[in-house]
Amino acid sequence: MKRRHFLAALGAFATTRPEAVAAQVLTGSTGVLTKEDRDRMTPGHVIDELKKGNERFRTGTMVSRDYRAQQRSSAASQFPAAVALGCVDSRVPVEIICDVGIGDMFSARIAGNIVDDDLLGSLEFACAVAGAKVIVLFGHTSCGAIKGAIDDVEMGNLTGLLARIKPAIAATTFSGEKSSKHANYVDAVARTNVLLGLDSIRRRSPILADLEKKETIQIVGGMYDLGDGKLSFLGERN
Ligand SMILES: [Zn+2]
Repeated sequence: MKRRHFLAALGAFATTRPEAVAAQVLTGSTGVLTKEDRDRMTPGHVIDELKKGNERFRTGTMVSRDYRAQQRSSAASQFPAAVALGCVDSRVPVEIICDVGIGDMFSARIAGNIVDDDLLGSLEFACAVAGAKVIVLFGHTSCGAIKGAIDDVEMGNLTGLLARIKPAIAATTFSGEKSSKHANYVDAVARTNVLLGLDSIRRRSPILADLEKKETIQIVGGMYDLGDGKLSFLGERN
């Protein structure tokens, strides 16, 4: 579907500025992002659209999408604008909480939204090969993986995964009770875990660090609040 159809669906004829047009493509109801649509967006535009999408989610004004039409439109190719790395938690599906459609963004999920070599490879694919312009690494409140790491849970392969969260526990300054039962502490560790994850991406992926330096991409962190549905962005570089 051509862009004019996106705009027709939105009734968005008020402006013809290219950046304004590009900034609305993520709200297409039946079409999907074309390469042209995606490439004319700056990383800042993409972040703005994700923020607007989260606002629509929070206010119950999500775009009504025809997923079958989007599936058909995207079958031959994809030009996602962003890649998210979030937790497996059933309550944090990024496509829903950012109100995007099929083909709009890559989504990688792992308990505790940790960064390992395979995930870095996925992020490199998304940005350096497929052209995504924004990496959103986000944690969430009341994260069970963070609680498990705080509690030193040991179980099968989970033990090794939780070990990757432990540096965030050591790096979190907190004056209250450091317990998995203390929500503020758990969320503080989750936030530190995101910040360390951002550092890890930049340090361990010269490819992504270089794309960020060239301003081809932006790497941002976020915290999602299960209570109010808000995705807050951290560490943006403008
Ligand atoms: Zn979680």
